[in-house]
Amino acid sequence: MDFHDTPEEAAFRAEAIRFLERHAVRRAEHAEEIVSFFEDEGTESEQLDWVKSCREWQHTKYESGYAAIAWPTEWGGRGGSLIEELIFAEEEQRFEVERGAFLISLGMIAPTIMAYGTPEQRAHVSRILSGDEVWCQLFSEPSAGSDLAGMQTKASFESGGWVITGQKVWTSGAHYSDWGYLLARSNAKVPKHAGLTAFVLPMNTPGVTIRPLRQMTGGSSFNEVFFDDVRLPDTSRLGDPGAGWRVALTTLMNERVSVGGNTTGYRSWGGLLHLARRTGRDDDPIVRQRLADIHIMLQVLRFNGYRALTAISKGESPGPEGSISKLAFVRVTQAMGSLLMDLSGAAGTLVCDESQWFLGGPGVRIGGGTDEVMRNIIGERVLGLPPEPKPTPAHQ
Ligand SMILES: Cc1cc2nc3c(=O)[nH]c(=O)nc-3n(C[C@H](O)[C@H](O)[C@H](O)COP(=O)(O)OP(=O)(O)OC[C@H]3O[C@@H](n4cnc5c(N)ncnc54)[C@H](O)[C@@H]3O)c2cc1C
Repeated sequence: MDFHDTPEEAAFRAEAIRFLERHAVRRAEHAEEIVSFFEDEGTESEQLDWVKSCREWQHTKYESGYAAIAWPTEWGGRGGSLIEELIFAEEEQRFEVERGAFLISLGMIAPTIMAYGTPEQRAHVSRILSGDEVWCQLFSEPSAGSDLAGMQTKASFESGGWVITGQKVWTSGAHYSDWGYLLARSNAKVPKHAGLTAFVLPMNTPGVTIRPLRQMTGGSSFNEVFFDDVRLPDTSRLGDPGAGWRVALTTLMNERVSVGGNTTGYRSWGGLLHLARRTGRDDDPIVRQRLADIHIMLQVLRFNGYRALTAISKGESPGPEGSISKLAFVRVTQAMGSLLMDLSGAAGTLVCDESQWFLGGPGVRIGGGTDEVMRNIIGERVLGLPPEPKPTPAHQ
């Protein structure tokens, strides 16, 4: 794999840098910075300011044709290559811009609406691109995470519309989202994967209650969401009744690529090196070994990102590659968090970017599919190993 730009890619990179320099401020001390792990933490008003900055930056990119570089032009994209998308992301992270509020909307929800939406629903795609709509993903429930198809939130078809009752949990960004993408059980009498239906709804629909959850980092980036007899018209349905699992798989495959493509690791590499130097630990052979391991993992992640993007650009499923990227991202995040804490010494016990990296690490092992579930996918679908034994019913 050659990581150097082709002449065309170099020309695109130069063009992207010109755009970024015109519209944003280059990070002054980028090489020495630890990037915040959870961008949406902070007080309620700080979170709202952050979302506003994300919307404004998304809008600026949209107006100049940089909002979705690899998307086809008919969807408001630039019709560029996935490698160009990656080049833009690499350069963008060197500037003082906020984009995290759109990661779920752009990376997971827009591709699903493109695949399954009605013409009216597809209009949301350009509103996401332009920064007008932030979305959240309402899948997990208190007893349905890895076993997502076991969800209990009920969707009943009554008088030509749907009534939703139940509870979701761990919904990232629900408290600042305009719209939600919901999966619910519409038929309890068929096998669990066949009884699900997907919906889209405004988050201010009567009967929807959003309660932020407090994380061990001190922040609240995800929520419990309650549905009390929420009435939705049939036009809210995304895909056919009972086809929710197929719709959700499109989202989940994109989710793993999206999480694995997170660039906070690269963005904080310079800061980690700087901390090692500043604390005089850069001569310590064990610290040097840990730094080398992290650097190698970051390169593996980058390489795998290229592989996943290449698969998508050929119209192939990003599933297994996405799972490898997701696992690699977890490993590097935890290794960085642990080294940052060790280098920080007593200062690491304070609330700071270094300690947030450490405290945020365990959540990354779970969100977007747990480590164990990712390993099962890689074992079964990449390595062709025998499937996990299914639990045996008690009476047998
Ligand atoms: C930071 C973060 C953000 C999130 N954002 C969202 C969001 O926006 N929307 C949303 O819907 N959800 C979100 N989630 C929820 C996430 O998808 C679930 O937490 C995840 O799927 C795991 O489900 P669970 O928590 O119920 O754990 P469980 O599924 O109960 O897992 C418990 C343990 O059992 C293991 N396990 C389960 N099944 C197997 C198996 N078959 N083989 C081996 N081991 C297994 C798991 O690996 C884990 O260690 C988020 C979670 C986090 C941490």
